[in-house]
Amino acid sequence: MEKLVSLCKRKGFIFQSSGIYGGINGCWDFGPLGVELKKNLKDDWWYFFVQMRDNMFGLDASIITHPQVWVASGHVEAFHDLLVDCKSCKHRFRADQLEGDRCPDCGGELTEPRAFNSMLRTRLGVSDDTAVETYLRPETCQSIFVDFKDVCSSVRTKIPFGIAQIGKSFRNEVNPRNFIFRSREFEQMEIEFFCRESEEEQWFERWQQDIWQWYLDLGLDPAKLRWYEHPKESLAHYSKRTVDVEYDFPWGWGELQGLANRGTYDLTQHSTHSGKDLSYFDADTKEHFTPTVIEPSAGVDRTTLAVLCNAYFEEEVKGEQRVVMRLHPKLAPIKAAVLPLVKKDGLVEIAEDLEAKLRRKFKTYYDHTAAIGRRYRRQDEIGTPYCICVDYDTKENGTVTIRDRDSMEQVRVPMGEVAAWIQQRVTFERD
Ligand code: ATP
Repeated sequence: MEKLVSLCKRKGFIFQSSGIYGGINGCWDFGPLGVELKKNLKDDWWYFFVQMRDNMFGLDASIITHPQVWVASGHVEAFHDLLVDCKSCKHRFRADQLEGDRCPDCGGELTEPRAFNSMLRTRLGVSDDTAVETYLRPETCQSIFVDFKDVCSSVRTKIPFGIAQIGKSFRNEVNPRNFIFRSREFEQMEIEFFCRESEEEQWFERWQQDIWQWYLDLGLDPAKLRWYEHPKESLAHYSKRTVDVEYDFPWGWGELQGLANRGTYDLTQHSTHSGKDLSYFDADTKEHFTPTVIEPSAGVDRTTLAVLCNAYFEEEVKGEQRVVMRLHPKLAPIKAAVLPLVKKDGLVEIAEDLEAKLRRKFKTYYDHTAAIGRRYRRQDEIGTPYCICVDYDTKENGTVTIRDRDSMEQVRVPMGEVAAWIQQRVTFERD
């Protein structure tokens, strides 16, 4: 982990937030490469779960909502963690994450657990007496339930269908840790899938399959993925069944995504609290009913971290050590680097011209500093799948070499075919 965190900082994937002020616990900034990686991941998710389906609709709701949303959802009442403090070193822990009854840092005695609401409060409004206290959302899904009627009537679809959203969520985590795995500000990719109760098991299974497939398609090692079924007695207040996808991180297994059967809990709660009917009307059977909800809820940051951990390799090539990020080409921040073999004899101009053309199609990088071997290594370290080298043969016959990051093999390709050659290998589109 230490090596990965250091590489992420050095190369511009992820920085500590507010670093020049000493940092702020539980918040992270995605740098020039991180933002590309995260965007590619979200685009792939959107493509696979939204665009490829005729019964899935997108939403981008506000982060701040009416405070009643969180009363209705049960978060004001029940979104609590149990905290304990160490009486000696004063460190604070989540009771459910402790093994044993002593402080894991100094072995000191712990206080009794106290409940602590993990929603972030904020005040909306300009003057102190009229400002309303509300919360930054701790999950994106509630606005999907709140907007259920608006989406239903605007898309004129039939059950079963889903509403998908990607966006920021906030939780006052007691112990933010493990890099971006547990932070206070993070992003979620959530789907609420509305179906009939009689079909809930069938849809639950279907979603399990699709979710699993998505992780495999990201290139995650299947040996490092597993399902965890929550025992009935530890289910969240809204859930009839929950299974998690876990990834084997360097510190152990951790949740990437939860799949929950939320039943009719949320729509019923919001109906009751808002006084608005949120039932679904089936025009064919002429019946009104509250749909059952199957919810896949994934974390962008945790998946990004799994992808980074999965990609990091150190190996020896011809007696030299190389660090290579074997990111799936569709996720790699930079798809191709254009490198003139040397900085003279007109190769720079050809390479610059080629890069300017490729840039229109996908994210590229141009570099003519240092020896070619060094430049290849730099790209390996940030996961660039293809390096295009403009050499003397390019001047002769208009071909370039394309070097594969993983096999380090090179092929010669006519310059005019390079864009298509690379594009077909880096796309997240499926046939
Ligand atoms: P945990 O038990 O690890 O706190 P959770 O079960 O509370 O997670 P959910 O409420 O199911 O998490 O949220 C759905 C997804 O959102 C999680 O699978 C995870 O990917 C992401 N997520 C939740 N909390 C955080 C966090 N503090 N930092 C980063 N991602 C998070």
